Amino acid sequence: MKTAVFGAKSYDIEYFTKENERIRHTLEFFEAGLNSKTAQLASGFDAVCAFVNDKLDRNTLTILSDLNIGLVALRCAGFNNVDLDAAEELGIRVMRVPAYSPHAVAEHALALILTLSRKTHKAYNRVRDANFSLERFVGFDLEKKTAGVIGTGKIGQVFAEIMLGFKCNVVAYDPYPDKSLKQKGVKYLTKNEVFQRSDIVSLHCPLTPETHQIVNKDTLRQMKSGSMLINTSRGKLINTDDVIESLRGKHLGYLGIDVYAEEEKLFFKDLSEHIIDDEKIMHLMTFPNVLITAHQGFLTKEALTEIAATTLRNISSYEKGEIDENEVTRQMMA
Ligand code: NAD
Repeated sequence: MKTAVFGAKSYDIEYFTKENERIRHTLEFFEAGLNSKTAQLASGFDAVCAFVNDKLDRNTLTILSDLNIGLVALRCAGFNNVDLDAAEELGIRVMRVPAYSPHAVAEHALALILTLSRKTHKAYNRVRDANFSLERFVGFDLEKKTAGVIGTGKIGQVFAEIMLGFKCNVVAYDPYPDKSLKQKGVKYLTKNEVFQRSDIVSLHCPLTPETHQIVNKDTLRQMKSGSMLINTSRGKLINTDDVIESLRGKHLGYLGIDVYAEEEKLFFKDLSEHIIDDEKIMHLMTFPNVLITAHQGFLTKEALTEIAATTLRNISSYEKGEIDENEVTRQMMA
């Protein structure tokens, strides 16, 4: 099927091209992200392939519908960037990759925790500069700390198991607790209790109207002084102003984020020769106890292979007119 792959980076092209050798869809890669200004590029195609920061609002979807695009194949798990009401009204089907490597994201959350605690990013630079001092590098053991997991789906589960492996007390909040995690020793609590008792809180829930800014003034006030907040899920789970305020007041001890509320205009681009027009991220970058990565949780060989394979399979299912479990419907937003 003729598919326009938007926002394609070198790694997308490499892994999609390799996986497509067997399946043989006609893929054309576009550097531009998908939004109402770029949607016309999909003229002459049957489907579009999009990623997390592509803007599939009503405007974009209407243009795609006018171009007879019948499928939006998301090469990601999250679908908060798609207006599902509009898609359904316009008769555009939306498919996603619900699971590729939950380990990739959970392990990235761990990387943020260990880097923030043991300051390996700073140690690397110091040693390269022949500065062998250990001043201001005192970290903390993970053993016996309380790790709080908000959302114990596929990624949250792996993360909880990793933290159990580090001999943490693991507490969690999810409206649908997982039996197997309970058996392994994870204690389900209310959301507030998780924020109150944890030394490290890691967010693994999707972005929905209910979870929008789940971390705000109130939740931050409930967190222990000096505790760590990790977000590898979606930027808008956090109220950035409130987090900055808490860091400034020396209440929140550490912040590790792979996602940022306003990341669309920044992430996945090389802006090193530009003036960054985003005061909040610039402010965050000045804190010594903040670590930011640019949405790379998914970026492992294993995850990229699975993302490409599943996306291409989704396109094949649509082509054959099959109903597929990877289809996203507006009921899933409820
Ligand atoms: P999942 O659907 O398997 O799990 C989500 C869990 O969150 C479910 O158990 C659900 O019950 C729970 N949940 C729903 N509402 C909640 C609430 N109000 N409070 C607490 N928990 C709630 O999803 P997943 O595959 O584990 O992915 C989780 C999120 O990770 C995705 O939504 C996506 O935003 C993010 N993600 C990020 C990257 C990255 O590269 N950084 C990659 C993939 C996914």
